[in-house]
Amino acid sequence: MSQDAFPDRDRSFALAKRTHDLMRDYGPSATPRAYAVWYAYVSGEAPLLNDAVKRLTTEKGQLTERDIDLLHENYLDPQRLLGEAGTVSQTILAELQAVTELLDLSLGSTRSYGESLSSLSNDLAQSQVSRVRLAEIVASLAATTREVVANNHVLETRMRESRTEIETLREKLEATRTENLTDPLTGLSNRKHFEEVMVASLAAVARGGVFSVIVVDIDYFKRFNDLFGHLTGDQVLRLVGVVMRESAGATAHLARFGGEEFGVVLPGADRAAAHVVAETIRTSMIGRELVKRSTGESLGKVTVSLGVAEYRAGDTPASLLERADLCMFAAKRAGRNRVVDDATPAAIQAA
Ligand code: GH3
Ligand code: MG
Ligand code: MG
Repeated sequence: MSQDAFPDRDRSFALAKRTHDLMRDYGPSATPRAYAVWYAYVSGEAPLLNDAVKRLTTEKGQLTERDIDLLHENYLDPQRLLGEAGTVSQTILAELQAVTELLDLSLGSTRSYGESLSSLSNDLAQSQVSRVRLAEIVASLAATTREVVANNHVLETRMRESRTEIETLREKLEATRTENLTDPLTGLSNRKHFEEVMVASLAAVARGGVFSVIVVDIDYFKRFNDLFGHLTGDQVLRLVGVVMRESAGATAHLARFGGEEFGVVLPGADRAAAHVVAETIRTSMIGRELVKRSTGESLGKVTVSLGVAEYRAGDTPASLLERADLCMFAAKRAGRNRVVDDATPAAIQAA
């Protein structure tokens, strides 16, 4: 099957076809920019863009040239993201600068306080100090003390403000990071985050240990979408996310790659253990009957095909994921709704 020989190529063609269809159906024109927006949409690489497109098409049916420009600028233009990160760092630098200046000021006033104290104590050391002079000395000490207390108060207030400001910036950075790593439809990680987890797992396993990955693909999802519509299709994607969360165990890292494919990284799991997890996901799916909430209509059951691969010495994230992918395709060929792992030579050879 050509699909199995060139999964990447086939995927690109499928994405391109869908991009073309959406561009035709939702307008406004076939500009390179419109292509970039719709391609990103079908590949799911920018989840926030997908949310915005769904909102716009629901509201207005069609997109205008201006919508495309804004979507491109807000969600795809790398300069904007760089710009945002730059603004945040510059604000932090400005805050730090302001705090440093205040500290200098406070040190200065403490030093002059010390100097005025020692000059006063010199005066006091002279034996003949009149009562009037003593009163002057005490008054001067009190004034300098008030000044230092006031300065410290300003410093404390400013430090507190800076702390709040820096904390807000930190939260903002954290939120941007989480947003960049999460698939908004299912709340699972996105592909980018999944790849980061794979790189980290590979680094960990180099120090000894084992881990496996699972690739999950929904069976006949296109048919489901065509029969019940895209929004119901999205509900199914959410359901698969929920079932995977319930079945994969606390240490699993779960992701939606975009489209109707999911991935699981299982730290510490060998092939057999990962196979058991994959079976649990599969059987949990067939235990769920889909019911349309609005009408009570049954939509039947949705099944998934799963491929399992255990890390081998020399694997890269790509080679490991590809092996799991080939096993998943072997599960499809064998009739779907099943698990195939990479101990099955046929799974790899037939590809
Ligand atoms: P198979 O059993 O061989 O996997 O068949 P399939 O229909 O699941 O596979 P195919 O790759 O032919 O179709 C996948 C479909 O998934 C195409 C598209 O309609 C749908 N799809 C991709 N992404 C999304 C999405 O984000 N939401 C919805 N609702 N559908 C999506
Ligand atoms: Mg698929
Ligand atoms: Mg599928």
